[in-house]
Amino acid sequence: LTAVIVVHGGAGRVTPQLHDAALEGVVRAVLAGRDPLARGESATDAVVAAIRVLEDLPAFNAGRGSCMTIEGTFEMDAGIMRSSDLRSGAVAAVPDAADAIVLARAVMENSPHCLLAGPGAVAFARAQGVGIFGHDRVWSEKSQGRFDAARRGHEDARGQADTVGAVALDERGLLVAGSSTGGVLLKLPGRVGDSPLCGSGFYASPELGAATATGVGEAILTHVASYEVLKRVAGGADPDAAAAEVCDRVASEDGMTCGLILVTPDGRTGIAHHSHHMSWAVARASGDPQSGLSRH
Ligand code: ASP
Repeated sequence: LTAVIVVHGGAGRVTPQLHDAALEGVVRAVLAGRDPLARGESATDAVVAAIRVLEDLPAFNAGRGSCMTIEGTFEMDAGIMRSSDLRSGAVAAVPDAADAIVLARAVMENSPHCLLAGPGAVAFARAQGVGIFGHDRVWSEKSQGRFDAARRGHEDARGQADTVGAVALDERGLLVAGSSTGGVLLKLPGRVGDSPLCGSGFYASPELGAATATGVGEAILTHVASYEVLKRVAGGADPDAAAAEVCDRVASEDGMTCGLILVTPDGRTGIAHHSHHMSWAVARASGDPQSGLSRH
């Protein structure tokens, strides 16, 4: 098997000022994930390394750069799943988390649970000695500007979602999917989208492969989008075409967006979105990465 990793930087509209940052960011992230894969390390390490890069870049809606709630606060969601034993881990509505994917991984690897929310997730992270927390660690001018514009009624500020996700296959055949987000702009405190929900925001199994979703969580989770796209591909559909079909279905209502990336157990990839943009990048263990701002 040749190892492969795919990353995305969110389905939505990327403003012209952020085009370069989004493209550079997904390439940096995919390389951060490819290097461990090329050294023979696990798809789990690759997905977490890629998402950590994106969480630290303010251009993306995860970690630093997250969208704010209607109260001007930050609440992060993240999830991860591995194919070997169908274990998944996720955290939801965690305040001011700069590296929510690390918390999700700790839930997967070191707890008997799949999803921890709010204060319980913070307490678990502290007990595990992981997690970077703090308003100053996640605030960015971008987030503040969007929040202020949205509060002034600029609808444009919404729909600029730039959530992040990654899927990878390693040389031993392990498939992993991960996602991390600050959620939708002006969400109510406590609102949780698809990103930390297994099956909707992410899914991985040995027979189906690994997939992760982005876009309006309320639409994605009713369609169980990550599981749905993988089932279609396992049934014989072309990965790009199946991803496009599921995105179109999820985003069939006005104002909805959806993006999906996936990798099959034999290393094929699928990328599609129903939105203006979705920055993406793919890298195999050898060879140069490919990337783009959209896939229309
Ligand atoms: N899916 C994320 C959510 O609903 C947002 C996004 O992907 O842009 O929280």
